[in-house]
Amino acid sequence: MAQISAPKGTQDILPRDSGRWLQVENIIRELCAQYGFREIRTPVFEHTEVFVRGVGETTDVVTKEMYTFEDKGGRSVTLRPEGTAGIVRAFVENGLFNEALPTKLYYLIQCFRYEKPQKGRLREFHQFGVELFGAPDPITDATVISLPYRLFQKVGLRGISLELNSIGCKECRGKYREALISYFEKDQEKLCPTCRERLEKNPMRILDCKSEICREVAKDAPLITDYLCGDCEAHFTAVKDYLTTMGIEYKVNPRIVRGLDYYNRTVFEFVSDQIGAQGTVCGGGRYDGMTEQFGGAPQPGIGFAMGMERFMLVLEQAGVELPAERSCDLFLIPLGDNACKEAVKLTARLLDEGAKVQYDLLRRSVKAQMKYADKIGAACTAVLGDSELEEGTVTVKNMLNGNQEKIALSALNSKWLEEFIK
Ligand code: ATP
Ligand code: MG
Repeated sequence: MAQISAPKGTQDILPRDSGRWLQVENIIRELCAQYGFREIRTPVFEHTEVFVRGVGETTDVVTKEMYTFEDKGGRSVTLRPEGTAGIVRAFVENGLFNEALPTKLYYLIQCFRYEKPQKGRLREFHQFGVELFGAPDPITDATVISLPYRLFQKVGLRGISLELNSIGCKECRGKYREALISYFEKDQEKLCPTCRERLEKNPMRILDCKSEICREVAKDAPLITDYLCGDCEAHFTAVKDYLTTMGIEYKVNPRIVRGLDYYNRTVFEFVSDQIGAQGTVCGGGRYDGMTEQFGGAPQPGIGFAMGMERFMLVLEQAGVELPAERSCDLFLIPLGDNACKEAVKLTARLLDEGAKVQYDLLRRSVKAQMKYADKIGAACTAVLGDSELEEGTVTVKNMLNGNQEKIALSALNSKWLEEFIK
């Protein structure tokens, strides 16, 4: 039969890479725990309305990129294109605001967007993100921003810059909107069709357009930072001060508006110049009041999402080596039926003690088994033959330094093994 290939824009993460993913995920989980963020898991699909309300009707995600379909019950459902909307839905629905505030949540999830696949842009991809509810103070913004910053530091990544902006509140944006419309109106016919539509519905979106021509037209557009009200200005200044206090460098980029409709005040991106056009590894911002979109009481919120594929690309590009986990402590090489039985017993004991132990399943020659042990990266091997069994001993070989030691079978335990590998 003919082979079937994976759908366009998807990617298998094979065992040779999944170890690295797991390591990075473990670092992320540990860091989140340090900050007091706890994991939330929401459904992979939601009622389509969740994303229309939560991401915003005029966004690229909602207008062009969603995997939406009708289920057998005739409901419109959508595979999540991002994490925040579903989490805000869950926050309101489960009354998490009744528990200790602020609520600190994190997620590691798959997302789905119908996009043109390129390097760092897939149709199924992974995001790590956090959401923090109930804290309006600028100290919160800086704290949330410090988490990805600390993650980059922790894995030894340099050359990722933090770009920061404030897009104000409804009031600031009302005035800014007017200014943008009168700026873009004169060059209306030069804009791409999508941006022409945006001009009426959401002119700020034009600043986020990837088309070269629209970028050129937007070159001298008014800057939101010139339209901030007193409160928003003070908030922005305080966020910057806290970042400075934390020793975190940033660059104010008044052109960052972010792709999702619900942001207000602080928005930010961590950008790498190492992986080409798709350089934004992490983006986030404040979304006060989004809970109201889901029928909840107003709650301030702030968060970010990091593209894991892009993060992995940057790590690879930078040659970052993560301490590799040992895949196998001991590989047993039994010769004959009796030896196989002994291997099974010994392995059961060592597994229960916490060691990573495997044995041959194919009754291959010693040489072939040795080769296999080497391929899987076993730290030690031990041949179990008739003479060893009679003696009740076993000779363990350290594959890393070549040392050998003969010990009583009964003395071979995980503690001894750990010492021997060191
Ligand atoms: P872009 O401008 O690159 O399309 P975006 O603004 O659509 O990004 P967000 O919705 O803010 O992205 O998602 C947060 C992060 O998720 C991005 O910064 C990026 O690292 C990652 N990401 C977004 N879309 C994709 C995708 N299709 N494939 C892989 N990673 C993605
Ligand atoms: Mg996008």
